[in-house]
Amino acid sequence: MKCMKCHNTLHSEIGEFSMTINGKSIKVINAPVLHCKNCNSVIISDEVKEKAKEFSKVYLYPDNTLDYAECEAGTIMSVMNLLL
Ligand SMILES: [Zn+2]
Repeated sequence: MKCMKCHNTLHSEIGEFSMTINGKSIKVINAPVLHCKNCNSVIISDEVKEKAKEFSKVYLYPDNTLDYAECEAGTIMSVMNLLL
């Protein structure tokens, strides 16, 4: 994937971003983001945004922070529980 601003190659990183869900401003941490080292843009894929939206219904901390990595691990665990 290329940067929309400068067409440089984007690098996958773990970072944080903010998004608004149902009028609430939510800070998502430990999330996979795409970073442009050239112009310092951070791009969040639609898939990650969608997942963060789903996670926020269940796992949102009282201070409106969402730990993406932890939520993803939690999802895997609940799937495993279903299998057992
Ligand atoms: Zn760029």
